[in-house]
Amino acid sequence: MTDPGRRAQLAAALDEVNGRIGRACAAAGRTADEVTLVAVTKTYPASDVVLLAGLGVTDVGENRDQEAAPKADEARAAGATPRWHFVGQLQRNKARSVVRYAGVVESVDSVRLAEALDRAARDRADPSPLDVLVQVSIDGDTARGGAAGDDLWRVSDTVAGAAGLRLGGVMAVAPMDWEPDRAFELLRGLSERLTGTHPGATTISAGMSGDLEAAVRHGATHVRIGTSLLGMRNLLR
Ligand SMILES: *Cc1c(COP(=O)(O)O)cnc(C)c1O
Repeated sequence: MTDPGRRAQLAAALDEVNGRIGRACAAAGRTADEVTLVAVTKTYPASDVVLLAGLGVTDVGENRDQEAAPKADEARAAGATPRWHFVGQLQRNKARSVVRYAGVVESVDSVRLAEALDRAARDRADPSPLDVLVQVSIDGDTARGGAAGDDLWRVSDTVAGAAGLRLGGVMAVAPMDWEPDRAFELLRGLSERLTGTHPGATTISAGMSGDLEAAVRHGATHVRIGTSLLGMRNLLR
């Protein structure tokens, strides 16, 4: 479980990522404690989660329930209990499994998924509400996840009115063929509209390995970093 070489590798990558976040915050006139790093550990083993937790990482992200559920169990058994963020497309029949380990579901993009998570969260052992971010489709291509247009406000209002859920804010992935600055500027505008009606929903989860600086420039409160921390993933999954 404790591989000193891997630990040193992750420590160096973490220093580098924290440096990037710190410099991006300084350039934007923000403080580094305004941005939470979510380490996206998909495809990497529970032992990496344990090492990252030991290095001070408090939040980890996963995008598939069938991978995340056993990984969370294994990490917990090894003493690591980070806050798990579910960031992938989620089928309603997985809601009960996801709420057992997730503290946050960042990828809620339909009223029906919000309702399924609400039922599951109200039935789970942990009595606190499940934090939810509404995933925004920046380019309106909702096939790749995210809500667009009036759906965004319908989903947000459903989450806000659900006893088992707490509306945290918005999440998005910048479309491949968009300038990240343009994508994250648009996201910030939507976030401002959301906080107009839901003042507590201030979270903006935006920015990945390739575009975290642009996200921080446009108000991201959470950045989701995989590759820059853990290394290149096998693309054939
Ligand atoms: C994989 C993934 C990330 C991390 O992406 P990297 O480019 O590896 O940093 C962030 N967000 C979501 C939704 C992801 O699926």
